[in-house]
Amino acid sequence: MKVKLILPALTEAESPFWRPIKYSLFPPLGLATLAAFLSPDDEIDLQDQHVEQLNLDDEPDMVLIQVYITNAFRAYKIADHYRAKGAYVLLGGLHVTALPEEAAQHADTVFLGPAEEAFPRFLEDYHAKRPRKVYRSFIRTLHNLPPARRDLIKRNRYLVPNSLVVTRGCPHHCDFCYKDAFYQGGKSFYTQLVDDALAEIDRLPGKHLYFLDDHLLGNKRFAGELFAGMKGMNRVFQGAATIDSILDDDLIERAEEAGLRSVFVGFETFSPENLRQSNKKQNMAKSYADAVRRLHSLGIMINGSFVFGLDHDDKDVFSRTVDWGIENAITTATFHVLTPYPGTRLYQNMEAEGRISIRNWDLYDTRHVVYKTRGLTAVELEQGYHWAYKEFYSWSNILEASFKHDSVKHRLKHLFYMGGWKKFESLWNFIIKTGGLNEMLPMLESILSKVEYKESSRKIEIRERVII
Ligand code: SF4
Repeated sequence: MKVKLILPALTEAESPFWRPIKYSLFPPLGLATLAAFLSPDDEIDLQDQHVEQLNLDDEPDMVLIQVYITNAFRAYKIADHYRAKGAYVLLGGLHVTALPEEAAQHADTVFLGPAEEAFPRFLEDYHAKRPRKVYRSFIRTLHNLPPARRDLIKRNRYLVPNSLVVTRGCPHHCDFCYKDAFYQGGKSFYTQLVDDALAEIDRLPGKHLYFLDDHLLGNKRFAGELFAGMKGMNRVFQGAATIDSILDDDLIERAEEAGLRSVFVGFETFSPENLRQSNKKQNMAKSYADAVRRLHSLGIMINGSFVFGLDHDDKDVFSRTVDWGIENAITTATFHVLTPYPGTRLYQNMEAEGRISIRNWDLYDTRHVVYKTRGLTAVELEQGYHWAYKEFYSWSNILEASFKHDSVKHRLKHLFYMGGWKKFESLWNFIIKTGGLNEMLPMLESILSKVEYKESSRKIEIRERVII
């Protein structure tokens, strides 16, 4: 059987603001994971439109498409195209789970929720000629899964081919997050077996890893054992964690000892009212500054995420956020316009209040305002969002933030990482076009090398200062 797996490009990936490097970071691991359930006799073609031109002239028997909100319309077009050619078309992913009736109009079968257990069930039914229209994930486990078909990934087209996911979901329940909608009807946070995760790491070449887990420190026991197992593997890695997990116990120190060099942190907002409104409990009554100090003391760089447009934001939120990021030497910042994704509690609440003003999913890219705002006008919100990016990544602010670090090495790392990420777009474009992206990995690894501090981070007092 000829099977085609497709990740259509996100609409924003083709906007004038498109930064090709941003969409050439990670391979489509979810599709490679599902490919592992196909037969070794199947002829499989995995295509990622972010890094290659899609070939739509072929004649596959089956097509599986991963759908996010801003590639939904494009995914439906591709699905219709292949159905017209007689292929059996499957759709799955966050958007399909949020709006199954919409997706089902373009598919023979849709998958709701994570598909690791449902996909093999579907294959059995398909080969028995009784496939169903909808498969919902029931059993949530990562135990005994076959290894992802990484051989299908065109590694040289990605800066970070060694991305991996060792947990699924997250223990928290933020109102604006897809997580609860995607995992409804079963466990919403579960992990691999530590030995399986370590074996997967062992199979990956090179030194650098990027954990795409929503919350790598979410299960303390699992994370502790994983980091213990990784010690001595000579890896450097990046991942995501919440404020409370960074301040709690010594898990972050153990992560650093295992090779953690940069972490994505959802600060989102400084307003207690906004946190409460978003059910972001893990940030409440926690000192962001202490979390930042702790990470700096360990030489871990920080990618801070911030959301603009929550109901208690005012016109000053943009400058307050940018100033705080520079003052606290956040290495990189990701700003978002609040976006009520269908299926989330935020969307349901806004829908009930008649506040959803735009339903063109292409604009649900966290750059456009798609709802009726409070506290700020839609124009102020979009302008403030663009201003924040421009200001935070100005050379003067990059230099100012870099010089906040104590050690020269940390200052240089900050400068190279932040400058390299945002200031050399044409160089990145040239590297992507000439196919040398993967060769930049050693440079990334050296920027992520360890910063030594005389004082043990464990001696640094972490005060859980109550700010709310
Ligand atoms: S912590 Fe992150 S992944 Fe978890 S529910 Fe909140 S936004 Fe989603």
